[in-house]
Amino acid sequence: MRRLADAIYPRICPGCGEASDRDDRHICWACFAQIELFTESMCEVCGRFVTGGVRHQFVCSACRAFKPAFDRARSAGHFSGFLRDRLHAFKYNGALWLKDDLVDLLEGCLRASFEIGPIDVVVPIPLHTIKMRERNYNQAALLAEGLAARIGRRYDGRSVKRVVQTETQTHLHAAERRENMRGAFAVVRPEWIRQRTVLLVDDVMTTGSTLDACARALKKAGARQVWAVTVARGIR
Ligand SMILES: [Zn+2]
Ligand SMILES: [Zn+2]
Repeated sequence: MRRLADAIYPRICPGCGEASDRDDRHICWACFAQIELFTESMCEVCGRFVTGGVRHQFVCSACRAFKPAFDRARSAGHFSGFLRDRLHAFKYNGALWLKDDLVDLLEGCLRASFEIGPIDVVVPIPLHTIKMRERNYNQAALLAEGLAARIGRRYDGRSVKRVVQTETQTHLHAAERRENMRGAFAVVRPEWIRQRTVLLVDDVMTTGSTLDACARALKKAGARQVWAVTVARGIR
């Protein structure tokens, strides 16, 4: 059945334009291998990459100056080049067929940096209703749903709402971003969050202010731990 589907609709790799050699995936092995992944030398809390080797349990200056509400965040790869283009297509151009490829990266990152055992629920960073109407889908929700299915955990796209629509933050510094995001999220079903270990999922993390604001709302609602994974991390 799969062979037949492949013959009719060949999965063309968006990187090299050749038919993909990965089962049920679009990005071929060669292009997948070129994605720059984070490996070691990172902040224990936020996952920020630090140049040069670091001692065990290194915490970066940003996390020391301001402790994020999430307990740990990790990203699979660098938000640049090939991966940035794919994420952009997935988020804005409806390239939803890339979902499994992107969930592969999330799953790899999750299994490398976290224990699956304690995770109770997988929650996406929600979109505001207005944005949702404009865009028709929430890219983070699709990724979170896919990841939850892979690890056999409950997906919850309803307990957290984005109550304030924030404008683009690219021109703001970390402290301004945090201020801008304050109160942007609310937990509307705290009984589903209380005492749970929550895994937050988003496509890209930059300063971490969005994850921090969402994690803050979850902690306020009684979450035991909040972990976060994103497909990519931008340097800023
Ligand atoms: Zn390729
Ligand atoms: Zn840090």
